[in-house]
Amino acid sequence: MTSALIWFRRDLRLDDHPALQAALRAGHRIVPVYVHAPDEEVPWAPGAASLAWLRRSLIALDASLRTRGSRLILRSGSSLAALEHLIEETGAEAVYWSRRYEPASMARDAAVKQALRARGTLVESHNAALLCEPWTVETQQGDPYRVFTPFWRNARAQLDVRTLAPAPETLPTVEASLPSNDIDALIPAPSPGWDAEFWSQWQPGERGAQDRLAECIAPLLEGYMQRRDRPDLNGTSKLSPHLHFGEISPRRIMRTLQSAQRNAHSTSNTEAYIRQLGWRDFSHHLLYHFPQTTDKNLNPRFSHFAWADPDSTLLDAWQRGRTGVPLVDAGMRQLWHTGWMHNRVRMVVASFLTKNLRVHWLHGARWFWDTLVDADLANNTQGWQWTAGTGADAAPYFRVFNPVSQALKFDPDGSYVRRWVPELATLPEAAMFEPWKHPELLARHAPQYPRAPIVDLKASRADALAAYSASRQGAA
Ligand code: FAD
Repeated sequence: MTSALIWFRRDLRLDDHPALQAALRAGHRIVPVYVHAPDEEVPWAPGAASLAWLRRSLIALDASLRTRGSRLILRSGSSLAALEHLIEETGAEAVYWSRRYEPASMARDAAVKQALRARGTLVESHNAALLCEPWTVETQQGDPYRVFTPFWRNARAQLDVRTLAPAPETLPTVEASLPSNDIDALIPAPSPGWDAEFWSQWQPGERGAQDRLAECIAPLLEGYMQRRDRPDLNGTSKLSPHLHFGEISPRRIMRTLQSAQRNAHSTSNTEAYIRQLGWRDFSHHLLYHFPQTTDKNLNPRFSHFAWADPDSTLLDAWQRGRTGVPLVDAGMRQLWHTGWMHNRVRMVVASFLTKNLRVHWLHGARWFWDTLVDADLANNTQGWQWTAGTGADAAPYFRVFNPVSQALKFDPDGSYVRRWVPELATLPEAAMFEPWKHPELLARHAPQYPRAPIVDLKASRADALAAYSASRQGAA
């Protein structure tokens, strides 16, 4: 029996895993491998929250392989050198992996593929992460899309998730003599345990992803469209970190929801949810076709925009949730405590940073990169450029989210703010949205909370619009 390496990366699961299935179909004795090589992803090497999640996800994958008779071989250093070494050790004739779409990973993968093929190793890559890969959706002229709606119309028509292979029940054993690094040496547990709070609400790994999906099917089918914009209602799936690490496939989610829908109402909710998976594909489409956008505005009009010099006190207040604007502070603290933030609030805090404080979106993207458990180069880049107005299909720059009216609309009784900004918990509802207008109540109920926002919302909005108009005229 020939051997093949399965090089796991962002596909940390066994269900609906085309590369694994292809290797098994070819009759190989498979050797599951993970190579920790964060330097190969610079300048977007995984941040602290991602590493904390990854560590647990790898432990979960190893456990799941062991219940099937196999195990995960952990290595580190250069991916190519590690794979070549493993090929020598195991006599493997083939390497299988799932494709990635970030610029640094794609360049690395191309080099690895070329080097392995040159030495006579069979290399096969498959799609495990997306509903539609970036090059399969194009305009009639053969160009990439820059606008979501036509992209999605085209992509949606292609989707077929009827045949998905389940996780194999058993797998070949891996030679006991084949060494594997210790996970603690590879990715040490965060010290001094700043992530401790995360794990009461997250369970990294395939099992955690499947449990999460099972829990949220009924509420999603019942009211995703109605609740998805409400941070106070827990109305979204929270599957983003599981999707990012490939612990569940978007195809499996789509199929599961479609199988569960029963009537027109649940079908509309399913479709609305699948459309969000479509945004995820669209972000990858943009990243693949416009790889410079991780660091540069997609829209060149912003090349001369007058961003403010980042003031470390203001940036620090934003990062720590001490801006004096309750919804912004609630979001930033939810992020700090849980590694996740609701999408609506992500847009509000990003707008506050890029418009009210006029700080370049990269400062925000970098902070999210380090603190989000779902930090994803495609989605994060797209989310920041969209909100800043600098990207494809962006919210126009002059759309400045007003954090007060957003809170009134999407957190109407202030329960989201109360949960994440506990010093405001006893503030009467009337003062919850603009506490600076109620100095006596603020002093009595929340003496530690900032007396006033770090920036005047109205004046800063006007300044941002003036800077935008100046940059349009090429005068900034
Ligand atoms: P659900 O509403 O349940 O959606 C299901 C899935 O669809 C999500 O898990 C996600 O994979 C995908 N999705 C939903 N909304 C979007 C969107 N707007 N763009 C792309 N995919 C989407 N998402 C990340 O996964 N990683 C990031 O680093 C990230 N950074 C962001 C930064 C900013 C400034 C903004 C505005 C958005 C960002 N998003 C990011 C998108 C979105 O906020 C999250 O995907 C979503 O909040 C995840 O929660 P959920 O799984 O409950 O979403």
